[in-house]
Amino acid sequence: RIVHLNGEYLPEDQAKVSVFDRGFVMADAVYEVTSVLDGKLIDFPGHMARLARSLGELGIQNPHSDDEWLAIHREMVARNEITHGMVYLQVSRGNGGDRDFVYPPADTPPTVVLYTWQKPQLIDNPAAETGWKVCTLPDIRWHRRDIKTVQLLYPSMAKMEAKARGCDDAWLVENGLVTEGTSNNAYIVKGGAIITRALSNDILHGITRAAVLRFAREAQMTVEERSFTVEEAIAADEAFITSASAFVMPVVEIDGVRLGDGAPGKVSRRLREIYLEESRAAAI
Ligand code: PLP
Repeated sequence: RIVHLNGEYLPEDQAKVSVFDRGFVMADAVYEVTSVLDGKLIDFPGHMARLARSLGELGIQNPHSDDEWLAIHREMVARNEITHGMVYLQVSRGNGGDRDFVYPPADTPPTVVLYTWQKPQLIDNPAAETGWKVCTLPDIRWHRRDIKTVQLLYPSMAKMEAKARGCDDAWLVENGLVTEGTSNNAYIVKGGAIITRALSNDILHGITRAAVLRFAREAQMTVEERSFTVEEAIAADEAFITSASAFVMPVVEIDGVRLGDGAPGKVSRRLREIYLEESRAAAI
C-alpha cells in the first residue's frame, strides 16, 4: 500500500511520524473519510469544507487548497487502484516538542497523512438488506462534537459495548435525547416524516446527512430537524443512520425492540437508492 505523508507518496512501512507529534500525544488532529465508488470521490467538496472548518476551529493551518487536496486524493486512489473503497485523511498540529499543553509556534508544519483501503462491498453491502441493530448508551463525549477530531476513544468503547450486547452500533443518548451513532448520524421515520437532530455543537455535521436531507426534500419528503427521545425512536415506523462509509443504513432494532416488521423500512431503502444514484452521478 502507498500512503501519503507530508507531500510524499511512500510504501506504508517507510512512512514515519515523530513520537512528539501532537496527534499521537494529545489527539490534537482532525480527519476526514471520503468514500470512493468506481474510482471517484463521493461528496468531496463537502468533506473539504468540513476539514477547513475543523482546522479553523482548532487554529491549525490548512496545509492545502481544495484543488491540491483533490489532486492528492486522486493520486492516492490511482496509486492504490481503488475502485470501491475509502480515503482516510488526517492533519495534526505537528511536532509539539517537549510535552506541553501550550501549542507549538504557529509556523510549525502540520503533519498530513492519507491512506486508503479497498471495500468491494461498499455498495452491495449485505447489511443494507437486513439492517442494523442498535443499542443505546450514554453520550459522555466532549461538547465540541462538531469538530471532527481523532479523539475517538469513547465512540470506540461504545462500539465495543454495543457489539458485546449483540448490536451493530450504539446510539448515544444525552438528557434522554439521541445525539448520534458512534460514527454516523441517527434518524427515525414516523408517519412518513424523517426526523433527525438539528445541527449544533452536540453532533458532527455529517456530509452524508446534508446530502440525504437535500435529496429527501427534493423528493417532497417531510424533514423535521429536531431531537428525539429513545422512547420515540422505539415507537418509530423505521430508523436509519448515515455516514460516508455506510451511506444510508437501515436500523431495524433499538435496544432489543423491533421496528415495524423488523425489515428495513420503505423510506430508508428509498433514501439509500436515491443517495447512491445522485452521489455517484455527482462524484468527481
Ligand atoms: N457522526 C459522527 C460522530 C461521525 O464520526 C461521523 C462520521 O465519521 C458521522 C456522524 C457521519 O458523517 P459523514 O456523513 O460526514 O461521514
